[in-house]
Amino acid sequence: MRTRITEVFLHFTPEENHFLYKGTNMSRILQIGAGGVGGVVAHKLAMNRDVFSHITLASRTLSKCEEIQKQIREKNRGDIDICSVDADSVGELVTLIERVKPDLVLNVALPYQDITIMEACLKTKTNYLDTANYEHPDSAHFEYKEQWAYMNRYKDAGISALLGSGFDPGVTNLFCAYAKKHYFDEIHEIDILDCNAGDHGYPFATNFNPEINLREVSAKGRYWENGEWVETEPLEIKQVWDYPEIGKKDSYLLYHEELESLIKNIEGLKRIRFFMTFGESYITHMRSLENVGMLGIDEVEHNGCKIIPLQFLKTLLPDPASLAGRTKGKTNIGVFITGIKDGIKKSIYIYNVCDHESCFDEVYSQAISYTTGVPAMIGAKMLVSGEWDRAGVWNVEEHNPDPFMEELNKQGLPWKVIEDCNLDDFLK
Ligand code: NDP
Repeated sequence: MRTRITEVFLHFTPEENHFLYKGTNMSRILQIGAGGVGGVVAHKLAMNRDVFSHITLASRTLSKCEEIQKQIREKNRGDIDICSVDADSVGELVTLIERVKPDLVLNVALPYQDITIMEACLKTKTNYLDTANYEHPDSAHFEYKEQWAYMNRYKDAGISALLGSGFDPGVTNLFCAYAKKHYFDEIHEIDILDCNAGDHGYPFATNFNPEINLREVSAKGRYWENGEWVETEPLEIKQVWDYPEIGKKDSYLLYHEELESLIKNIEGLKRIRFFMTFGESYITHMRSLENVGMLGIDEVEHNGCKIIPLQFLKTLLPDPASLAGRTKGKTNIGVFITGIKDGIKKSIYIYNVCDHESCFDEVYSQAISYTTGVPAMIGAKMLVSGEWDRAGVWNVEEHNPDPFMEELNKQGLPWKVIEDCNLDDFLK
């Protein structure tokens, strides 16, 4: 399917019995979703024309695609094709894929569309990538089960699906895989830390899709210890972490999707948790909205109309893409890891710091969308260049982390490692 093939390798293992095109330097990409993350992905694809020679951006609302197309031209990053699509319809997606003939479909629509897009990719034998795991619109619950179930069908079709290639999940998983490969013989404890010290000036707004964000934060917390899940009340566990280059921030334990794949893929793990920072204003607003029923996802009757409270709230809140340009400050997202090397216990912190205003200057975005969109583009590069071309359905940490980590440094998300950390210096 690729436009130029310089070498063709045949893999003979039963699992990987498909053609692997190595050395190709041109590829066709179909991106679905033109929201906050979608804008970043499209710019970054256009900034890597040596790999992505032809880009098509499709989303539900054509005007959002037009706006991104215009911005890319303004920045002298060339042209992209645009069109509208309903990604809830497998039939519409198949027709679009057959017309565009992409090497890869890059899904940055909503988690609700993961399965329809994966299904359309399977029907057309096209590679697939996303940044968030499948969620059913009617239940605030997410897990990989339904996507992992495509493993054998993707293998048989000779195509790859790369799941969770954003920052968290995504880069955080790769930080763990990289640490395992280069710093530890055994990893015992992982704390994933997601700190946003940005200020957008609104009393309450979410940094990415409000519906997805509020469903995640208001859900019960969960972490994994000694082989079992431990459940907590929503935001029950709070710790104050001292983030390098930012300072001390209230951080709350949440359940996050990368925990599910990491407990499977990092052998010997004894505990893994996820913390995210929230300011007092965010927590107070969220609790009040929850108390009055505004986070509900079941239909209610209002003046003869049926509405879903959370979707109505989304209409009232600032569009996350509009926070770009008014957000100042930095993010620090990283992984605090404790384990054993050469028989000695040690800890490291591996992280990236991203500046909201620099993201706006580069691609008209804030750092949350930027830190998601850049790894999505890098994941696409790993697949189409053949670095990670392996038939089946994989989470990012199941591939070699080195080429991806190298790209992070080149593509705007440089990372650092603090070695021989002491937990007491981080946890206040
Ligand atoms: P937005 O809501 O800003 O954008 C979603 C886009 O998808 C919009 O353009 C929307 O269209 C489009 N869309 C929604 N439904 C359909 C449909 N049925 N057919 C076609 N297009 C559709 O979300 P974000 O950009 O903030 O997030 C994008 C994804 O990134 C989400 O899955 C989110 O969970 C994930 N994410 C991952 C992170 C990570 O680190 N791994 C972090 C942050 C986000 P319309 O404009 O018409 O609404």
